Amino acid sequence: MSFSSDTKIELCKEIPQGSCCRKAECYGLLLFARAFSAHVITLTTESGAAAHLAAQLTAETIGVIVDISASMLRRKERKNSFTVTVNGSEQCSAVLAFFGHNQKEINLRINHSNMEEDCCASAFLRGAFLSCGTVTDPNKDYRLEFTVPFMNLARDLSAFISGIYELDLQPGLLNRKGSFVVYVKGGERVADLLTYMGAGNAAMALMQTKMLKEVRNNVNRKTNFETANIDKTASAAAAQIIAIEKIIKTTGLDALPEELREIADLRYRNPEMSLRELGGALSEPLSRSGANHRLQRIVDIARSL
Ligand SMILES: [Zn+2]
Repeated sequence: MSFSSDTKIELCKEIPQGSCCRKAECYGLLLFARAFSAHVITLTTESGAAAHLAAQLTAETIGVIVDISASMLRRKERKNSFTVTVNGSEQCSAVLAFFGHNQKEINLRINHSNMEEDCCASAFLRGAFLSCGTVTDPNKDYRLEFTVPFMNLARDLSAFISGIYELDLQPGLLNRKGSFVVYVKGGERVADLLTYMGAGNAAMALMQTKMLKEVRNNVNRKTNFETANIDKTASAAAAQIIAIEKIIKTTGLDALPEELREIADLRYRNPEMSLRELGGALSEPLSRSGANHRLQRIVDIARSL
């Protein structure tokens, strides 16, 4: 089961109480179907739950009986495709008339009078999502899309989503393979939209995944930071050894002040030792910063040679 199909199952479990919202949800389901005209109304979906809900709401709210057929889409993935069809021009015309659509419309647009009350906007959007929407697995991306066959309808939907005044969803619109895709991206926005449509569990699952990912990224960042520090230590030791080598070849270690001689010799033989270990290994032990200070003096001397 994909995240998207789980979300759809969740959305189909709660059928709205009010008849106004049932009508709005049915409208969303049919308007965003593959075809919505006086000749053909066909909804194709991989979600059996969505197909059955469309049939139930169409029968209940309009009194039109639809056909549902199922076919195996991809046998390997055990994916089915369900097609909901309104039979015959007479029935299609009845559906169009019910939702206040003119049969001769050239451009399919959202008829806002089908959302009678404030409560209906969420039901309408839920219907649209069940009909033509997908939501990406939050482990991969935070993205919710509606694939709409008509440009003006897609524009209307984008404006509708922008117009949800309690949310700031900033939908985008793009053209993909001849369809128009209205999308919302970003973890918080997708979770907000899921919650708005009534998929509270999906929204919560998304936010949990997001949190987990952030924790994991922080751990990785920290590890990278530590690795960078190890590199720094290693290159400091390398610089010290190069300096000591230069001194050995020119003046010899004996030319160094007594307090530097021992640590120079120790460092030269132990490139892997930390400053703390070096300091501790001296006949008169030194702190980390004391060892660092002496090695720095050695590097300065070598530079002046
Ligand atoms: Zn309502």
